[in-house]
Amino acid sequence: MKRRLRLNILINILSTGCPRISVLSLKTFRAPKNPDWCPGCGNYGILSALTIALSELKLDPSKVVIVGGIGCSGKTPHYVFANGVHTLHGRAIPYAAGIRLANPELTVIVTGGDGDLLGIGVGHFVSAGRRNIDMTILIFNNQVYGLTKGQASPTLPRGVKTKALPRPNIQDAINPVRLALASGYTFVARGFAYDVPHLKELIKKAVLHKGSAVIDILQPCPTYNDVFTKEFYIQRIMKLDDLKDWDPVVRAPEEADEKMLKAWEKASWGDKIYIGVFYQNELVPTYEDRVSERIPLYKKYPPAKIPISVDGKPLASISHIIQPRII
Ligand code: SF4
Repeated sequence: MKRRLRLNILINILSTGCPRISVLSLKTFRAPKNPDWCPGCGNYGILSALTIALSELKLDPSKVVIVGGIGCSGKTPHYVFANGVHTLHGRAIPYAAGIRLANPELTVIVTGGDGDLLGIGVGHFVSAGRRNIDMTILIFNNQVYGLTKGQASPTLPRGVKTKALPRPNIQDAINPVRLALASGYTFVARGFAYDVPHLKELIKKAVLHKGSAVIDILQPCPTYNDVFTKEFYIQRIMKLDDLKDWDPVVRAPEEADEKMLKAWEKASWGDKIYIGVFYQNELVPTYEDRVSERIPLYKKYPPAKIPISVDGKPLASISHIIQPRII
């Protein structure tokens, strides 16, 4: 990791000709590897927004973990200069939860598609929300299974026929924002892959949020989705911030239900599709806080920092986790 960091700093210096450039320049989080996504894919905008957000937050790349699932979006960890895991189909969230709970010092971000996170992985998606684990989930939502040639995903509305479907879709769609609200996520937002400055700010807010954060990112797939295109969204997208008196932040417990109902209403799809923060509530204790109540030394000595052997003899024992043996 240190070797890669030095290499990246060198690339920054060489590419700018400025040896005094900040270690955390805008290129710090861009891995020196070209994505193999199709030309015009919305994933490029998401990758830009993500890497710029991480740079502007001045995070240490060695303390950031990107966890991808399977699909076009699942390749994202390869293109971000940080720790990364390319996991199994539908299993990015439990991998990420395990990483975060093993070492709560890490910033953990899931990058998964709508088919991955809301199809085979939907049980994990709901569980992460109700646990309120402090991590961020980015849904690359293009309404199709792009990597496997454009089948209907769980977010494609009923009656819609994209070009790879022989007939219109006969299943109803999941609204990711509404599912996140119902599941207990304490930060819920929607972004647009082609509005990088706006999406970058959403990602920064999600990463800084204390609790489980999800951003449903409208990500056109020009190869297989000829219905929900960049032009379709540009004609319909409105920003929540432009609404008079829009305030998604819950500041007292009694505000939570009212703000959630407002978020639910604005999350609908129609002639207007809102992007921005729908709901934010930091009054709910995180899962890490709840674990700490049971295991007081958890945050000081999380599992990743507990020695597992001494002189070749294993120390693995549940009693060592509850009452760590410090060497
Ligand atoms: Fe992007 Fe669609 Fe191509 Fe996948 S198939 S890389 S989602 S344009």
